[in-house]
Amino acid sequence: MMTSPIDFPPAFHLLAKPTGATCNLDCAYCFFLSKEMLYPGSRFRMADAMLERYIQQLLEAHQTPQVQVAWQGGEPTLMGLDFFQRSIELVERYRKPGTTVEYTIQTNGALIDDAWAAFFKAHNFLVGISIDGPQPMHDAYRVDKGGAPTFDKVMRGLAFLQKHGVEYNTLTTLHHANADHPADVYRFLRDECGSRFQQFIPIIERLPVDPITQSLRDGSQSPGSSVTLSPGHLVTPSPWTSWRDRPLYTQQGGYVTDRSVTAEQYGRFLIGVFEQWVRRDVGTVYVQMFDVALANWFGEPSGLCVHSKTCGLALALEHNGDLYSCDHYVEPAYRLGNIAETPMIELIASPQQQKFGQDKFDALPRYCQECEVRFACHGGCPKDRFILTPDGEPELNYLCAGYKRFFHHIDQPMRFMAEALRRGRAPAEIMQVYARRDAALQQAFAAASRNDPCPCGSGKKFKQCHGRS
Ligand code: SF4
Ligand code: SF4
Repeated sequence: MMTSPIDFPPAFHLLAKPTGATCNLDCAYCFFLSKEMLYPGSRFRMADAMLERYIQQLLEAHQTPQVQVAWQGGEPTLMGLDFFQRSIELVERYRKPGTTVEYTIQTNGALIDDAWAAFFKAHNFLVGISIDGPQPMHDAYRVDKGGAPTFDKVMRGLAFLQKHGVEYNTLTTLHHANADHPADVYRFLRDECGSRFQQFIPIIERLPVDPITQSLRDGSQSPGSSVTLSPGHLVTPSPWTSWRDRPLYTQQGGYVTDRSVTAEQYGRFLIGVFEQWVRRDVGTVYVQMFDVALANWFGEPSGLCVHSKTCGLALALEHNGDLYSCDHYVEPAYRLGNIAETPMIELIASPQQQKFGQDKFDALPRYCQECEVRFACHGGCPKDRFILTPDGEPELNYLCAGYKRFFHHIDQPMRFMAEALRRGRAPAEIMQVYARRDAALQQAFAAASRNDPCPCGSGKKFKQCHGRS
């Protein structure tokens, strides 16, 4: 059934993957590398005819004065510069008068050199660099096809971007190797990478494992004994380490690999970064999660699907024109169609995709519906909803405990910043509040005796808390 134009969304976000899942790296946790299995025998290169179709449809479908052309992978730079040069020419051919086009590209940075950086600068690309923190944390999982570390290559690519004055931001995945080091990661991104816009993505690698197999794997139970594992249980060791041995990844299974971040770690990480940021960087460093939270406290659309009421307007386009509901759902059941056969806007407005987006809200367990921070959390991403609520209802978000802790922790400062915005003042005024509070605390520490309750409010004795020598 055709959808009437009136139902078409005026704008949407589409991540195009011109090389499909092909990448020059082999990050151990990458769920996307296995998607090559969806296209056996493919060369994984977007053909020129498909590129033209994509650009034309993207520009025609938008009813807004700004359109974003967003490239992602796999590793999109493997297409070579000529491909992106052609994409610019096509944008100029199909751009409606008055339309501004923003280019973004997410890359591991390894191939960036002078020529790439000059190109990005010439066309005002916003470049997202994937980097997981200081060298040991980055190299823990982000290795190349030969298993070699990649940190130096990424930093070299970043230096080219800086040399040419390219606008860039950082995307950092949170996992077992870096999630316990929020201050180190944050300061590294800010000071060593010069990142003024930081995005953190939790690694949650799901896998279906039967409890008996698990008991054999981690040695926690004797072979053959029956074990009861709750959804969200970490499986040790992770059953795959490379594209060579991993099965097609789909959003299924109640267990997670031990590379994954735990809910508690995620909450502690966000709080740790927040405590750094709120004291000196408000207004100069942008952390996506904090921007999103402030929007939700302020009562405006947050701009991030994960913490919005519904989703469905952030899709993924494969190299051959197949359109999928979301970058995290590039799997057969979520293939909407091919833009060579059906215009992309009809696929985006299709009942299947509308249901996909609406389900984010409709499937919320009662525990979320009654949650005091739901306005900020909205239950998180449906892909991560695979644990049970305390009363046994399914589809609670694996990260719930972390979300709850973080959103409660930032409640007061967020209220302050949202109120500042309402009054036309700068949210950065929060830094003065913290400075006064920290100064008062230092005075209280100086006056406290060893056996006094710690002035920080931890409930511990001073000598066991901030008074520890
Ligand atoms: S499934 Fe998750 S990542 Fe995908 S659009 Fe919905 S909220 Fe966003
Ligand atoms: S914090 Fe937990 S209970 Fe509250 S909305 Fe988020 S996932 Fe649901």
